[in-house]
Order: sequence, then structure tokens, then C-alpha cells
Amino acid sequence: MPENQSFRQDYPQLDPPVRTLMGPGPSDIHPRVLQAMAAPTIGHLDPAFIQMMDQIQGLLQQLFQTKNALTFPVSGTGSAGMECCMVNVIEPGDRVVIAQNGVFGGRMADIADRLGADVVKIQVPFGQKFEPEAIREAVAGKPTKLVGVVHAETSTGVCQSLPEIAEIAHEVDALLLADCVTSLGGTPVKLDEWGVDLAYSGTQKCLSCPPGLAPVSFSERAVQALKNRKSKVVSWYLDVSMLLNYWGGERAYHHTAPINMLYGLREALLIVLEEGLDAVFARHQHHGEMLVAGVEAMGLSMLVPADYRLPQLNTVVIPDGVDDAAVRRALLNDYNIEIGGGLGDLKGKVWRVGLMGHASRRENVVTFLAALESILVQQGAAIQPGAGLAAAAKVGA
Ligand SMILES: *Cc1c(COP(=O)(O)O)cnc(C)c1O
Repeated sequence: MPENQSFRQDYPQLDPPVRTLMGPGPSDIHPRVLQAMAAPTIGHLDPAFIQMMDQIQGLLQQLFQTKNALTFPVSGTGSAGMECCMVNVIEPGDRVVIAQNGVFGGRMADIADRLGADVVKIQVPFGQKFEPEAIREAVAGKPTKLVGVVHAETSTGVCQSLPEIAEIAHEVDALLLADCVTSLGGTPVKLDEWGVDLAYSGTQKCLSCPPGLAPVSFSERAVQALKNRKSKVVSWYLDVSMLLNYWGGERAYHHTAPINMLYGLREALLIVLEEGLDAVFARHQHHGEMLVAGVEAMGLSMLVPADYRLPQLNTVVIPDGVDDAAVRRALLNDYNIEIGGGLGDLKGKVWRVGLMGHASRRENVVTFLAALESILVQQGAAIQPGAGLAAAAKVGA
């Protein structure tokens, strides 16, 4: 056998299984996005590419509902966006208040700590939201540079209201940082109306795009904080003042832009805006409600109360006696459906069912409910067969 032929046997053609991604991300990719990403790569200073960069910035402003000029995608996943927002405004010794009600608030606190900030972490149990009063108490007394909150906590399914917190932060002249990784493109994000100063997101949650870019937006106040720095930004790669020489006026080389990822993001943003923001949010809400009606009719319960529950990330409490891992394995092996398990304090206690972006479709809700019912019946769980699909069908009917 010729040598190259045996090589091909050891490394056959890549053939990943086709899954329905209904976990906490990555979520299902829209076929148009994958197609856009297969277009020929051009140079990062090509006039055709520069024109596309301007479009992406404008489209991102529409999604973030902001006029912030400093709105662009950071090269890297959502966590790079988190780190970018924080490293550009936080200096050693700055007092930073982080509201943690899940895993991602914990990550924010870790980054602030690494930057030498005086970190004040306030906490409520996973699955709960913060009352504005808790933030008011935390910022009282000492000058605070920044308040960090997670708008859509993917580890718990909680949606944190932001306008009241922005007001409290601004009263004491602090910046408000919001994690919008799972909210952007799934539930309303209104940076200007709400008064959010720094926001970041990611491509692989409700934007139906592969992981790899982190849209960020800085308000005028955040830009001012950047200009007032006494020390150099400690990250070279994420220093916004240098990145802006590429994304802004001069188009000076900083690092090679991930060209094809940006093709994908542009298409993903177009898909959202073509459907229309209100229609996109209504679709997420409707399918979230169908899913909840279905699992509750089966006899299961949701972790988060309806008034601050995210429709794109549903935390279902695992019933007593049910084997968490076996259920998720059966969903994957027998139905090609991926859902997430619990993270941190919720490990083994909840399933995280994502209905994000292109995955937020009726067929996915119905298939998931039917599959879950079948698996739970096989496991001998005390559920009501048939009730879930019937209840889901009645939502909005
Ligand atoms: C996914 C996620 C992140 C991290 O994004 P990565 O793309 O995994 O780096 C941060 N915050 C929230 C709320 C997320 O859901």
C-alpha cells in the first residue's frame, strides 16, 4: 500500500456528527453563516475588507442598541471580550464591585483580582437575581471604579435587570460593565437607554455563529476612563487604544483580523436584523414558553421564577432519582440533541436547555420534549406521558 494511502486510513475524512445544539453554547449555526465563512480569504487591509469592517461595526451598534463609536468585535471568544472590557478601564488598586449569582460573575471577579483591583464580591444564590439595593450598599462609602454584572447568566438562566443598577453606579461615578454574551440576539439589550458603559458578547450563543469573536462596546464615559488611565493597559493584545488604530481611522496593522470569522459574524448580524429585533425576541420568548409549559406539564420544575427567567437558557430541575448523565447521554446518542448539565453550585441539579438563535425553533422544542419524555419513561421516572407535548402545543395557540 502506498504510504499516503495508509496515512488517509489513520486520519479519515473529518466527519463530525450532525447535532442539534440545545446547550449553553455553542448553539446551532445558521447554514448561511457557514456558507459565508467559506468565501475566499482576503487581506486584512484590502479595501473590500475594510468596507466590511465598517458594516460590521454599524450592524453591531444596531444589535447593542447604541451609538457608541467604540463598538467592534474582539478577536477571541466571549471571555476575551470580558477581559478586554476590564483590562482597559481597571488599574491596580481600583475598587471594583462584582455582583455574582453564577459562574460568569465569578470569572469577572477573577479577572478583576488578576488586574490588582480591590474586588468587592457580592453574592446571591445561583438562580436568584440582585435587587438594586444590594448594589447601592456595595458601592456606598468608598469610591468605586466599576460595577460588574451578568445580564444573562448562562449558568443559571437568570436575566438581571440593568437600568436601576446603571443609575446607582452613575450616582457614585462608577462605570457599569454588563456581560451580554447570552443576551445579545436573544433578549433585548439596550446599552444607551439603560446606561451600560461597557458590554461584551460572544458569537456562539444567540448569534448562531461559531465561537471566535467577542463584540464589545464602550460608552463615552468608558472611553474617558481609558483616556484618564495613569498606567499602561497590561494586555498588549486587548489594548483598545491600539486596536482602534485598526478598527478606527488609520487602519494600521495591529494583529491579523480573523477574516473568515468576520465574514461569518457579518452574515449572522444580517440574519438577525433581517428578521427584525422585535421578531427575534418574540421568537425566543415563544419557544422558551413552549418548553417551560412542556416540562412543567410533565411534572418537572424550573429553577428560575418566570419574571426573571431567560427564554434562551432554561434551567430544568432534575427530578429526584433520575440519572443526570444517563439522560444527557441518551439525548445525545439516540436523538443527537446536546443539552448542558449544571455548572458550579448547580452541578448535578439542573439541565440547561438552550434555545438560542437558530436553535430557537418549534421543531427543536417538540423533538426535545418528546425525547426527554421517552428517556424519562424508560428510566422509570414518575412523569405524565403525553402531557408535555400537549401543553407545549397550546402555548400561543
Ligand atoms: C459563554 C459565556 C461566557 C464566556 O464565553 P466564551 O465564549 O466561552 O469565552 C461569558 N459569559 C457568559 C454569560 C457566557 O454565557
